[in-house]
Amino acid sequence: MFALELKIKTNDNFSRLSESYLFSEIAKRVKARAEADPSAKIIRLGIGDVTLPLAPAVTGAMEAAVREMGVRETFRGYAPEYGYDFLREAISAHYKRSGVDVPASAVYASDGAKCDCGNIVDIFGDNEILIPDPVYPVYLDSNVMAGRRVTLLPTSEATGFLPTTEGLSGEGYIVYLCSPGNPTGAAFTKDELGDWVAFARRTGSLLIFDSAYEAFVTEDGVPRSVYEIDGAAECAVEICSLSKSAGFTGTRCGWCVIPHGIKAGGTPLFKLWERRQATKFNGIPYVVQRGAEAALLPEGRRQSLESVAYYRKNAAVIGDALRRRGVFFTGGVNSPYVWMKCPGGLTSWEFFDLLLDRAAVVGTPGAGFGRCGEGYFRLTAFGSAEATEEAVGRLEKLL
Ligand code: PLP
Repeated sequence: MFALELKIKTNDNFSRLSESYLFSEIAKRVKARAEADPSAKIIRLGIGDVTLPLAPAVTGAMEAAVREMGVRETFRGYAPEYGYDFLREAISAHYKRSGVDVPASAVYASDGAKCDCGNIVDIFGDNEILIPDPVYPVYLDSNVMAGRRVTLLPTSEATGFLPTTEGLSGEGYIVYLCSPGNPTGAAFTKDELGDWVAFARRTGSLLIFDSAYEAFVTEDGVPRSVYEIDGAAECAVEICSLSKSAGFTGTRCGWCVIPHGIKAGGTPLFKLWERRQATKFNGIPYVVQRGAEAALLPEGRRQSLESVAYYRKNAAVIGDALRRRGVFFTGGVNSPYVWMKCPGGLTSWEFFDLLLDRAAVVGTPGAGFGRCGEGYFRLTAFGSAEATEEAVGRLEKLL
């Protein structure tokens, strides 16, 4: 029936990707557990998606924008590839409110940080790519797909699961940094991020700084943006998102900052990104951009941060329990993630099974985020306060 074999070549690099079975395997084991004991109330502390709705200021702006789209005089067609000026200005003003100078012309709005993290690979040649381990898998997979040379930067308890520049002697790297991090929740201090900026300047390297969790930062001395560090505007690109700060996971809006002062081999980086986006991207919907603008203006930001505070409280509840039990963890502050050491030397999948079987609580095995994640486990704060309290009570009994 389907016997035809095409004579085309496919991208061989895809065969070098490691099998991504993490979330399907979790779903399979949770289903089996639910079937074995239908009365068990399974609580999911593994979700990486938000659960609270968009802020009223955001939905109000989107409703008004929908009405504009239904009227001939205010209808809009294709949006500009880099975002409407009103959104680029709102993002620039958002940075300015935390004392960071990012001109609107350096802001490129997009349909999310994941897309930007994956797409930015297009504008680089053959460089050595440094990626922390464990980390959000998109950085690694998108570079593997493009056939790039990747070196993983191992992290561990000793450095609080933050990558350091120690032992790096080459030059011209592209370095992915994520702070506050997924899955570890670990966040750089200003000095630690300053070390990376100094390293990039010294070695002619580029930092790609993913600040998707910036809204969760509460501690003084923890930067929300790489541009809080002097000199970063010549060696760092920043990718950010409204997914976790304003509940936009399903609405889709993020941005990439490419300061116009960044250049390599005489070529300004932003020119390549503009060319790439103008060729392969047709902008985000007007309605979404009006919602995004509202999420960044003071009233929308204030409302959205109420949800962030709710999640943060859940994270603190999880962290407090682990502290009481003397379990090592990172995150829990400045982050919706808590990254805990599995008790008794269990592997991360062994602990997953134990927690599911004995407490009916679901988390995410650390091994799914990289080799250095083995023996660790991610819990998330995106559930309801009641479910989180209940799950933490069960977890504490088990530890
Ligand atoms: N960057 C990090 C570190 C993430 O954890 C996530 C989502 O979980 C993203 C980016 C994706 O963001 P977006 O929803 O804007 O694509």
